[in-house]
Amino acid sequence: MVSQICNICPRNCNVDRSTKIGFCGMLSEIKVAKAYLHEWEEPCISGTRGSGTVFFTGCNLKCVFCQNYKISQGNFGVSVSSEKLADIFMNLEKSGAHNINLVSPTIFIPKIKEAIIIARNNGLSIPIVYNSNAYENVESLKTLDGLIDIYLPDLKYYSDETAIKYSKAPHYFEYATKAILEMYRQVGNPVFDNDGIMKKGMIIRHLILPGKLDETKEILKWIRDNLPKEIYVSLMGQYTPFYNANKYQELNRRISNKEYKEAIEYFFEIGLENGFVQDDESASESFIPDFDLEGIF
Ligand code: SF4
Repeated sequence: MVSQICNICPRNCNVDRSTKIGFCGMLSEIKVAKAYLHEWEEPCISGTRGSGTVFFTGCNLKCVFCQNYKISQGNFGVSVSSEKLADIFMNLEKSGAHNINLVSPTIFIPKIKEAIIIARNNGLSIPIVYNSNAYENVESLKTLDGLIDIYLPDLKYYSDETAIKYSKAPHYFEYATKAILEMYRQVGNPVFDNDGIMKKGMIIRHLILPGKLDETKEILKWIRDNLPKEIYVSLMGQYTPFYNANKYQELNRRISNKEYKEAIEYFFEIGLENGFVQDDESASESFIPDFDLEGIF
C-alpha cells in the first residue's frame, strides 16, 4: 500500500492515513453520508432547483454544538472511490443541481481533487462549491486552485480561548483568515448569472454564538478591513444548542433578539454592504438533513 502521510490541515498529524487515523478520525479513503438537492443554503447557492450537496464524514474540528455530529464526530457514512464520487457529482447535475456543494471536504482534499478532475473530464459543467470550517492549511488549498468556483468558508471564532474551548482548534482565527485570503485569491469577487445564481466567488459564513457578540464584531471588522466590499457575508442567527452544547451553561440557549439585532446593525454600521441573514426560523431540527446515505448507491 502506498504511504499517505497526512498534514493536510493545521492539525499536522503526520500519520500514514493508508492505515492509521489522525485527529479527524478518517483513513484516506473518502467517506460520505448523503448526496442530495439541498434547498436551504443561501438563495444564490440553492436557487430554485437546489444545491447538489455532498456531506462528507469526519471533521478536523470537534465543535461541541455541531448539528451534524452524527457524521462529523459519529463516523456515520460509507467509503467511496474518487471515481464513484465523480459519478455522484454527475448524478446530482442530472437531477438539476445548480452546483456541487462539498460539505466538510478538507480532510479528503487529495481524493476529492481527483474526483473533480474525473467529473470535469466526463462533462460536469456546474460550479463546484467548497463549504468548509476554514481550519485549513493554505498549501493544501493551493492544490485546488482552478478547480473550485465558489468558496463558502465559516469564520467561527475570533479568540483562541473560545476556539479551543468549543472546537479544540488552537489558532483558529489565524489559520481561517489566512485560508480565506487564499480562497479569495483563487476566485475573486462574486459573479452571478442572469437568475441571480452564484457562478464564482466567496460567501463568508458566521454563526452568532450566545454571549459572544464581541467576537462577532471583531470578525465583521476583519472582513471589512481585509477584503473588498463586494464580498458577501452570511450572518447566521440560528444557533441552537445541539449535541454537547448543554454541558456549557453559556452555550445552552439560543441567541436573544437583542443580540441578533445588534449584530445586524453593526454589520451595516461598519460599512459592510453585501450579505444574507439567516434567522432563527432555520434553527429547527427539521432543517438538518437525515443522514441516510441517500444519493450514494
Ligand atoms: S486531515 Fe486529519 S489526519 Fe490529516 S492533518 Fe488533518 S486531522 Fe490530521
